[in-house]
Amino acid sequence: MEDAKVKGEQKLPVIIGTGLSGMAISDWLTRARIAHIMIGGEPNHLPRLGESIDPAGTLILLRFYPEYERYYFRKKWISVLLGEYATSCNFGQNLNRIVGLKLLGFNSPPEFIHVDRVGFDNAFYEKVIASEYCQRMQALVADIEYDEASDSILALTLADGVVIRPSYVFDCTNHFRLLGRTLNIPLQTISAPQRVVYNHYHANGAAPLCDSVEMEWLHATNILRLYADLDGINGLAWLIPLGSYVSLGISIPMGDNNCSDADVMDLLITAYTRRGMAVGEHFPESKQVMSVPRQQYFFHDRAYGKNWLLAGPSYGQVWFPSASGVGAAMVAGYIAADIIDSPAEVGQLYQDYIVGLQESHTIFDRMILKHHSELTPELVKVESNRIVTENVKRVARLATIQSGKMGAAFGRVLLKAVSREGVASSGCVVYKTDMPDQTRTVFAEA
Ligand SMILES: Cc1cc2nc3c(=O)[nH]c(=O)nc-3n(C[C@H](O)[C@H](O)[C@H](O)COP(=O)(O)OP(=O)(O)OC[C@H]3O[C@@H](n4cnc5c(N)ncnc54)[C@H](O)[C@@H]3O)c2cc1C
Repeated sequence: MEDAKVKGEQKLPVIIGTGLSGMAISDWLTRARIAHIMIGGEPNHLPRLGESIDPAGTLILLRFYPEYERYYFRKKWISVLLGEYATSCNFGQNLNRIVGLKLLGFNSPPEFIHVDRVGFDNAFYEKVIASEYCQRMQALVADIEYDEASDSILALTLADGVVIRPSYVFDCTNHFRLLGRTLNIPLQTISAPQRVVYNHYHANGAAPLCDSVEMEWLHATNILRLYADLDGINGLAWLIPLGSYVSLGISIPMGDNNCSDADVMDLLITAYTRRGMAVGEHFPESKQVMSVPRQQYFFHDRAYGKNWLLAGPSYGQVWFPSASGVGAAMVAGYIAADIIDSPAEVGQLYQDYIVGLQESHTIFDRMILKHHSELTPELVKVESNRIVTENVKRVARLATIQSGKMGAAFGRVLLKAVSREGVASSGCVVYKTDMPDQTRTVFAEA
């Protein structure tokens, strides 16, 4: 086997995967002036996942990536539609948030954001590969040489036989879980397998619909639980507005039906339209139906080793409405330079952040695994409050990673305080209404 050009030279950190996690890590290694190798392909222009951003992810993007503002769109609300129940949480600015975030070391944004990932990822990729510190290799990693005794990765073999001896390895392969699989890191699955179908729908007029005040759902992440008896299909769906287009998709329990991807998307558009979000009318031009035939939420037992990290969703991932994937990728980027020198200490900090996402998964399970006839307004209200609490905890955890001593200390205090059941409440309101009135009702206070 032939060794890569880098053989004989200084060993470098290697990033496997060029999605958002890989790019964020490369960017932060560049910021720290650390030469590194990034292995993977170029981003394409097809619809992608990961467009609704949680508060923690929003704070990171606005703080460290303001230059991509043109790809950011207002996320003022999250609405969740569950049969005859509908809940909306308003993320508008208020004094508590401004003061709380200040104490944590962050500026409070007027609203949270959705991100046009097609535009963002392509622009970010150009920036990352332009760095003199980034050596890009358009290849696939086919094999890994791992020394169990020292818990270290010794070599990576590419599909063409080239061998790289890394100083540190960042696994950014998402659900492929290249390191997790190869190193046999124990894995817990936390959901049934899902089939995911999604697409983008563009407006054909010149009018900027997403600036419309009347159509407040165009400033919200709109989560919809579809039920077979109401919608002809079971699943959990999203509608995310992104300027001149909307992202629409659904996660379906695998094997639940035999509908084609195109039929699934038609049922989805009908389901949103019945509830007052007329997607087809305003956004008639579809891009390309995409699908992930099998997707499952999971966690590995550990995120890091002596010279390796399972970054972003390679380590663990939770129900998509938690909107935590982009934030997790960004946190992996932020700690990338430090973890090379302090793998255990920084690795644990990172692992704690990601493990903190698990509670959100459980909360969504309690809301969406039940049939709509089993739901009550109390249950929806309590779980909505908990979702908001989990987001507060996520930001507090972020402060322990990213803010100075004062912000981190306040983060720890806040984390303890809001972890007590019943302490936190939220701006979420629950309504019981007929389906055609749901959208009008949940955004009535806009
Ligand atoms: C249904 C669904 C909805 C989601 N919605 C949201 C959301 O609203 N908000 C949010 O924040 N997150 C969301 N996410 C998560 C989000 O999409 C990801 O967490 C985020 O995009 C980060 O992806 P990544 O860069 O880690 O992985 P990817 O973008 O998947 O990149 C992984 C890369 O690794 C490469 N690769 C794999 N194997 C190898 C190999 N052997 N050698 C070299 N390269 C390899 C792949 O080709 C790919 O390019 C969602 C996820 C799902 C499943």
